[in-house]
Amino acid sequence: MAILTQAPRGTEDILPEESVQWQVLEEVMRGEASLHGFGEIRTPVFEHTELFQRSVGDTTDVVQKEMYTFLDKGGRSITLRPEGTAGAARAMLEHGVYNGGLPVKFYYFTSCYRYEKAQKGRLREFHQFGAEMYGSAAPLADAEVILMARSIFDRTGLSGVSLELNSIGCPECRAKYTEALKAYFGEHREELCSTCLDRLDRNPMRILDCKSPECGRVAAGAPRMLDYLCDDCKAHFESVKEALTAAGVEYTVNPSIVRGLDYYTRTVFEFVCELDGKPITVCGGGRYDGLIEELGCQPMPALGFALGMERLLLLLRQQNIELPSEEPCELFIASLGAPAKMAAFRLCDTLWKSGVKAACDVNDRGLKAQMKYADKIGAKYSIVLGDDELAAGKADMKNMETGEKKKISLGENFLDDFLTITTMDEDLSF
Ligand code: ATP
Ligand code: MG
Repeated sequence: MAILTQAPRGTEDILPEESVQWQVLEEVMRGEASLHGFGEIRTPVFEHTELFQRSVGDTTDVVQKEMYTFLDKGGRSITLRPEGTAGAARAMLEHGVYNGGLPVKFYYFTSCYRYEKAQKGRLREFHQFGAEMYGSAAPLADAEVILMARSIFDRTGLSGVSLELNSIGCPECRAKYTEALKAYFGEHREELCSTCLDRLDRNPMRILDCKSPECGRVAAGAPRMLDYLCDDCKAHFESVKEALTAAGVEYTVNPSIVRGLDYYTRTVFEFVCELDGKPITVCGGGRYDGLIEELGCQPMPALGFALGMERLLLLLRQQNIELPSEEPCELFIASLGAPAKMAAFRLCDTLWKSGVKAACDVNDRGLKAQMKYADKIGAKYSIVLGDDELAAGKADMKNMETGEKKKISLGENFLDDFLTITTMDEDLSF
């Protein structure tokens, strides 16, 4: 029955050879986050549904269509997190982390759940790296998080990632803009998709984010938020751009970037790259100064971004950027007979304890099968142990690439001999 041997639609297994690449990327991200003083936060996979309704916003696609929501056995409405910001903000407030000094800086790696039409780069379970900063309203904070994301892309070696920037203002200036949008889209009702017709009354700015080409055409002629910014929002946006320029970060202003979630204010940005000839957003973020108040607490400015891990990996693979694959096994110890098998195990243990990747046969296979396995796992060296080797206390250690053999002691000097031989070979290969 396929249901038992096939993962649910929109989910992916990450097998060992791939997870090595994830680990490399995670290292890059952790390193960058730590440079900027961000600490890792881990929050639950599920939260109260209300948290997402409140923070992500009732008018968003995520809340309206994409959430995995269910009643638990106690009758509470629970939702699998569709993104990482809400949980991080909830945890920051719950634990009073802001009392320790501002700004508070978190980063996270999370799995996210959205019931979407599964396709390349769009999954139902996917993973994000995210950064969150609370307690700074300053434009330099915007520039710093953008810089962090930029630097992560640079460190991975991905090329052609462009930064698109916009400001969607504050609730005051946006109110006027929303009126202008309603008037404009109201005149183009017949051209809008049914979802956008609904958005027209509830949150017309969402229409700018619609992926349907018809709505896109109408949206292209819509009024631009940038023309409606109040003086404060305008000054903020100018300062963000100035700081980015000072740091040598290139960007383009794209007035149609509004982000998919309701809680954004002022700066919004996306990092966009081409996948199969089409633009795809690999990282999105901005400022959400209204979020904390929305959760019923004293207002506190906040900002951050989330970067899609699967999309980043797709892009790196498409550009043939080499990420390391798994370290090969250093030494495979084959054995013939029970005493040799135990000796092989003991020698492996010596290597394991010294941090050397080693393997021996655990399956009672014949010599031929054991050597085939050594090849398969890419062992750099091999030893064959039999009664003769045990009696002599010595064996041949074979370089699997060159075929060259060198004597290695099976006694006390085993580790020293092993290290001498491998170091000599390394020196020679330079
Ligand atoms: P999109 O417009 O592509 O639906 P979004 O605006 O919904 O994206 P965000 O909520 O901003 O995306 O999430 C941040 C990042 O997470 C995205 O830029 C993307 O890289 C990744 N992401 C979002 N949804 C998915 C998904 N269903 N599958 C894989 N990655 C995703
Ligand atoms: Mg989406």
